Amino acid sequence: MIDKNYRQGDAKSEPFGQDAMLNPAPEQKIPEGSTTPQVAYQMVKDETYAQTQPRLNLATFVTTYMDEYATKLMNEAININYIDETEYPRVAVMCQKCINIVANLWNTPEQIRWKTGALAIGSSEACMLGGIAAWKRWIERRKKAGKPYDKPNFVISAGYQVVWEKFATLWGIEMRQVPLTRDHTTLDIDRAIKMCDENTFCVVAIQGVTWTGLNDDVEALDKALDKYNAETGNEVCIHVDAATGGFIMPFINPDKKWDFRLKWVLSISTSGHKFGLVYPGLGWVVWKDKQYLPADMSFTVDYLGAEVTQVGLNYSRPAAQILGQYYNFIRLGFEGYKNVQYNSMQIAKYLHEQLSTMSEFMPYSPEVPNPIVTWLMKPEIQKTAKWTLYDLQDKLAQHGWMVPAYAMPVDIEDMVVMRVLCKQGFSRDMCDELLHDITAAVAELNALEYPTPTRIAMEKNVPIVAKSFNHTGK
Ligand SMILES: *Cc1c(COP(=O)(O)O)cnc(C)c1O
Repeated sequence: MIDKNYRQGDAKSEPFGQDAMLNPAPEQKIPEGSTTPQVAYQMVKDETYAQTQPRLNLATFVTTYMDEYATKLMNEAININYIDETEYPRVAVMCQKCINIVANLWNTPEQIRWKTGALAIGSSEACMLGGIAAWKRWIERRKKAGKPYDKPNFVISAGYQVVWEKFATLWGIEMRQVPLTRDHTTLDIDRAIKMCDENTFCVVAIQGVTWTGLNDDVEALDKALDKYNAETGNEVCIHVDAATGGFIMPFINPDKKWDFRLKWVLSISTSGHKFGLVYPGLGWVVWKDKQYLPADMSFTVDYLGAEVTQVGLNYSRPAAQILGQYYNFIRLGFEGYKNVQYNSMQIAKYLHEQLSTMSEFMPYSPEVPNPIVTWLMKPEIQKTAKWTLYDLQDKLAQHGWMVPAYAMPVDIEDMVVMRVLCKQGFSRDMCDELLHDITAAVAELNALEYPTPTRIAMEKNVPIVAKSFNHTGK
């Protein structure tokens, strides 16, 4: 006898009481039948449940905290595709207003109503666009001069983020790396200039080196390139990869010239989702003037008599981040951004100072130009300790903290460092908690009788496979 009142799904709606919850989650094939939304939700939610809390993720540069209104605004825009600008013309205009604001924060000399720039999904796309434009401008110059243009190169420090390796590999461009050394912890300008030749289309300067948080000296580079270009007749320009610094420098160090105030800086990129304080994925790239954006890279639309220029590698993309960025600009204003960045800087400096007082550690650099703290073991401790920073990483993970340990790039790869990103949402109290957990973990590690496996591996020079944190992107 069939029970007519029995309806699958709502009769037993408690997800944990349902048969479906006993089945393993699909891995290879789409399931034959459907399940209730409650069960599907629970299964998907639970798969990520054991992960760390995003705000304890001190490895990432990317925003893990926004206020309730920003979150609401972005959630409400979740079904809007940015590219449908005929249907959502105000989103395109709002995007252009963000580009204007960013361009002016970087002291653009451009006087036209809509400044020359582009929306990107992150710094990666923004760097690609800046790099491609510089490459195309060089091709044009070479063509005009009747010279070959089949061996392009660009110069960058070995502390580059992985996007530049992708840029070089995907477009068939030579990447000339200036090594980082213990003496030159940022771009060595003399060596960079020596690497330039007639096939060099740009030098990439980094504001907020991913590995260390330090800044390349763009002003000195600009001066050196000006001299080099005058002597050689070349036109090597600068693209600034300001993924982090683009939203730190204007607020924290406005007098320092690293941006469009410098002659050879023709494009700058940043991550709106890093210190632009927006959830992922958002990036911006701005050119000093329309003439530096090759015409065939841009696509112009008329809106209410205004020309809105669009450039990008992607087509469809979420619009919510633009709303989040514009909200932040209105909500925080210059003063608000300055206050948030200032606090992050203060907390970074505090952490830097506290770690420096511990007998085991030393900071990678005496300066903290961005809210990023990088430290290592003192060499004399490293010699005798029975543990490594990889062990400290594991200990901290037991308390939920994601703090990566990793080896530095070529030439200083024997140096293992640890890094903390002090972002909005990482409060002074949380910093003290972290310090407490570090101190306790170090005490436990110091009490070990036998060396840890990573310590033994280090001794034997066996490469240690670091946990796959997204710290260097490598
Ligand atoms: C994070 C970062 C990138 C890549 O940025 P995404 O926004 O993650 O695409 C590029 N360059 C530097 C210096 C970075 O720190």
